[in-house]
Amino acid sequence: MQVVYSPAHLAHDITVETFMGMPIPANEVAERAERIRTALEADGGFQFVEPTQHGEGPITAVHDPGLVRFLEVAWSEVRRQGLPRPFLTADTYPNRRMFEGMSADAVAALAREPEHAAGRAGFWSLDSAAPLVAGTYPAARAAVDVALTAVDLVLAGATAAYGLCRPPGHHAARSMYGGYCFLNNAAIAAEAIVRATGERVAILDVDYHHGNGSQQIFWRRGDVRYVSIHADPDRAYPYFLGRADETGEGDGAGENLNIPLRAGATNEEYLDALNRALEAIVAVPGSMVVVSLGFDTYGLDPIGDFALTTDVYHEVGRRVGATGRRLVILQEGGYHRPSLGENARAWLRGAEGRPFDPLPSGGFGEHGAVAG
Ligand SMILES: [Zn+2]
Repeated sequence: MQVVYSPAHLAHDITVETFMGMPIPANEVAERAERIRTALEADGGFQFVEPTQHGEGPITAVHDPGLVRFLEVAWSEVRRQGLPRPFLTADTYPNRRMFEGMSADAVAALAREPEHAAGRAGFWSLDSAAPLVAGTYPAARAAVDVALTAVDLVLAGATAAYGLCRPPGHHAARSMYGGYCFLNNAAIAAEAIVRATGERVAILDVDYHHGNGSQQIFWRRGDVRYVSIHADPDRAYPYFLGRADETGEGDGAGENLNIPLRAGATNEEYLDALNRALEAIVAVPGSMVVVSLGFDTYGLDPIGDFALTTDVYHEVGRRVGATGRRLVILQEGGYHRPSLGENARAWLRGAEGRPFDPLPSGGFGEHGAVAG
């Protein structure tokens, strides 16, 4: 399988994030992607290719141009405004209740983008969980190019391609970033496939978290089906979307399938959910599937609370590959760094129909070389 990778992600150099208002060591760090890269290089069965530039067109086909402009200038605004901060996050958001009782026209006029960088961040973001630094926008743009280059490889005939995207994307909505995500790589890839092929596309999201951004972007779309297995939002981020009764509207009615799982979900429960998800995926009359691949479903993940083991990732990949659909596989989350390389290797080998061939150590410490 070909793997698309760009070192541009290293410039999105995040060391601290905030969780419930407290600074904590960052989870979404450069080491994650480097662990995966190193493990796939060591495997010997993957061919690395560099992304090609695709410009802004495929991005604004999915995202509000205002969001893209903000992300592009955000860090220079922090500097220009002299804000003494190592990274930019918001802490004030235009909660819809701020405008309760006001007409839609009044809200449209009043709820406009302010000038202060923190206010602008609040205007465009879901939360304070996507710290933005000098290298964030170039890295996010490179992650999109990684995804679109994986699309190119599959359109050119590859059975599957893997885009090692960082930062991840599935929490980014049309006009909103958040949750470590800035631009929605998977949604941009799905839209590009629809435009290139005229076919319907399915997105299979197997990150631990619900991909609220992907759901929102395609909510009324009949040509992109979104299917997600994730932690029940009653207990897990992003809290306000991801329930089973969210099924889409308009042309998209019935095209959104959420499968929330309980805390402690086992390999067996997960594979049952996967079978349900794959039934919905293969019911889409198209040839290509975009996979939002997360490993925060792993039993030792510091954010997740599922109980999956490395060998089940091979089986998940195998079942997804066995659908016979051509796969654009894009990296989302996964925060237990020692296992990331081996979990990715297991999943991707499964998707190719290769045996897992686990490392004797389970991968821990074997591929620990880290950059950034
Ligand atoms: Zn996640």
